[in-house]
Amino acid sequence: MQIRQLLANIHTQMFIDGQLVSAHSGKTFAVYDPSSGAEIAQVADGESEDVAAAVGAARRAFESDAWRRMPPAQREHLLLKLADLVEAHCDELAALETLNQGKLFGFSKMLEVGGSAQWLRYMAGWATKIEGSTIDLSLAFPPGVRYQASTRRVPAGVVAAIVPWNFPLLMAVWKIAPALACGCTVVLKPAEETPLTAIRLAELAHEAGFPKGVLNVVTGRGETAGAALVRHPDVSKVTFTGSTEVGRIIGAQCGQDIKRVSLELGGKSPVIVLDDCDPRKAIEGAANAIFFNHGQVCTAGSRLYVPRAKFSEIVGGIAAVADSLVLGSGFDERTQMGPLVSARHRDRVVGMIAEGRAQGGEIVSGGGAVPGDGYFVKPTVVANEHCKPLSLVRDEVFGPVLVAMPYDDLDEVIAAANSSEYGLGASVWTNQLDRALQVVDRIEAGTVWVNSHNMVDPAMPFGGFKSSGVGREHGKAIIDAYTETKSVCFAY
Ligand code: NAP
Ligand code: MG
Repeated sequence: MQIRQLLANIHTQMFIDGQLVSAHSGKTFAVYDPSSGAEIAQVADGESEDVAAAVGAARRAFESDAWRRMPPAQREHLLLKLADLVEAHCDELAALETLNQGKLFGFSKMLEVGGSAQWLRYMAGWATKIEGSTIDLSLAFPPGVRYQASTRRVPAGVVAAIVPWNFPLLMAVWKIAPALACGCTVVLKPAEETPLTAIRLAELAHEAGFPKGVLNVVTGRGETAGAALVRHPDVSKVTFTGSTEVGRIIGAQCGQDIKRVSLELGGKSPVIVLDDCDPRKAIEGAANAIFFNHGQVCTAGSRLYVPRAKFSEIVGGIAAVADSLVLGSGFDERTQMGPLVSARHRDRVVGMIAEGRAQGGEIVSGGGAVPGDGYFVKPTVVANEHCKPLSLVRDEVFGPVLVAMPYDDLDEVIAAANSSEYGLGASVWTNQLDRALQVVDRIEAGTVWVNSHNMVDPAMPFGGFKSSGVGREHGKAIIDAYTETKSVCFAY
């Protein structure tokens, strides 16, 4: 597809109550191509009035017979139809994502679009499988009366879905697919850096036949549109993916309002190589764990722990991979790593690398930005041979920056891996099942991979321990996130 042709067709309004609309204020904000720094478009800057309109539409849709009382098989059918439409628009959606987010076009097709279709289909299946239970009760008041109860899972109501910029389309689908399968209606707020595919997703849902108001998109800023959405009294459930910092603000507000909330937050995931692991496999695995999506992955393997005897071989091998990666536009087939999402984020990542260097980290590869208009940061490997308390070991960078540390025994490496405020992901690399299981058992993380990293699937629960979040997405566990249990008690 020609980029110029695509640019002529970009949709930049919000999608509320079945139609594209401008912001109430008429204001817009710019979105950029991170590979060149060029402005792509001006997008509607939604604020509290727009949020009120979107939540109002979602509430009306929730209360109408057209949605909540729709037979589950019809909801399933609509989600399957949306999956087909997403696939049919693969090139368009993937090109929009690469243009606006910077990732490789092949990854946009396979992961953003292909992954979204898979998630929609898996979640569509749940629409017809939500069930309760029947319970024989023991207490008898007055004596002689028996009771039997049944439980129903009923949709939570209007869901506010707030997503980040690292996988814009896929993260939106991770929220909307299960919420819609459960019979909720949704107001989605994409990240201000990457709103374009969310708008198209809502249009495609409309085309698939979802009733108006069931899926609304408000584009805008976190502090205005996002905050108004979280606070709106007609929102029953907030589902958020983003930074731990913003997660704390949203969690506190939801606590105040007694609102249901799920939080998928940051990470500082350890990659633990055991001494039996083939160094070539460790090098390839660790490089993929950190450099995939340019390190902008919440589960990125950003802390590497290597047996001391193999430290220089493995760290040197990863540095050689980093040095060899070709940086460029995601549309160029030779490119192996694209830019970071924004100039602000690039500057933040470069600042964190400089801080790591100043604190005594040894830069063995990369170490800064690529001069030019695009937001490129060189893939960076930092050796921390004396295990200094670098901020790079503690803080999430969310960029292509690996910090590597040697260790001497298993107890030491488990303690080091767990000494983080985060607990999202971890991986262990070994051929010995018993040792793999020992690590799995002792690591504090929502997902532990053995001989892989960053693998996710619609059927596998995903979420964080500790400051990495509250709740789980995907799998059967997701039904709890978007439904309430209603007990019905019968006397006989
Ligand atoms: P962010 O600043 O926390 O933003 C995430 C979303 O929240 C954006 O849509 C943002 O809007 C909105 N937001 C910001 N302030 C808000 C507020 N006060 N009230 C309501 N909404 C608000 O995160 P980001 O910089 O976009 O993404 C990177 C972070 O996300 C990383 O820390 C990463 O670890 C985390 N992440 C976690 C997961 C996971 O599954 N655990 C997945 C991906 C990313 P604006 O865009 O307008 O700021
Ligand atoms: Mg932000």
